[in-house]
Amino acid sequence: MRKPIIAGNWKMNKTIDEGLAFIDDIKARVKDTDVEVMLFVPYTLLKTMKDYTKGSNIIIGSQNVYFEDQGAFTGEISPLMLKDVGIKHTLVGHSERRQYFNETDEIVNKKILKAIEHEIDVIVCVGEKLEEREAHREAEVVRTQIAGAFKNVEADVLNRIVVAYEPIWAIGTGKTASSKDANDMIAFIRSEIEKLYNEDISEEMRILYGGSVNPSNIEDLMNQDDIDGGLVGGASLKADQFVDLVNF
Ligand code: PEP
Repeated sequence: MRKPIIAGNWKMNKTIDEGLAFIDDIKARVKDTDVEVMLFVPYTLLKTMKDYTKGSNIIIGSQNVYFEDQGAFTGEISPLMLKDVGIKHTLVGHSERRQYFNETDEIVNKKILKAIEHEIDVIVCVGEKLEEREAHREAEVVRTQIAGAFKNVEADVLNRIVVAYEPIWAIGTGKTASSKDANDMIAFIRSEIEKLYNEDISEEMRILYGGSVNPSNIEDLMNQDDIDGGLVGGASLKADQFVDLVNF
């Protein structure tokens, strides 16, 4: 039985005060859920929000991590620094990182391996661009991203990894993939994981959908067999909407 996840990605939004007010607003309203509740917040909020959510069911994670422990990498954040402030979860390979910061599949893979080495759980994002979907190349693109991401990742750490399928044309655009298209692609990702590892692992792996998820489409998405939750940008910034997503 795969436990569903609702994960908010705040991107480059919110101050510490705003983050804490958000927790005050949602804490009691998400506490009785069977869903795993996660918020991926900016670096400056990590420690304060981690401390503030202690004892609650809200997991605070980072939006990124670098693939070295320390050194001359100006502006990067090390897994050791995340651990130092109690963070045990990170996103890797979000499409905005791939698009604006030139993250390749190779970099994504190095980040996954490094995070796992330090026992930080990962949500790795994959997804095709609009022109790739229009050219019917989405399966090929996602297959390459998955193979790249999981290179040299041992089977015994896969319970620390979640995949998020986020078609780039659906992120922040208000366009959602139909629940059937999202489910088909997630089933395809599961079959790729089976080819790389085995059926048990592919059946256990949690795979989320992301791309303009909101309270009005979450139920339909969650009713699909292969979709195990949502990675949510815009709608995770508003407390009421986030609560509705968690209690879909
Ligand atoms: C995201 O940031 O991962 C995302 C899916 O954003 P949005 O929900 O705004 O499309």
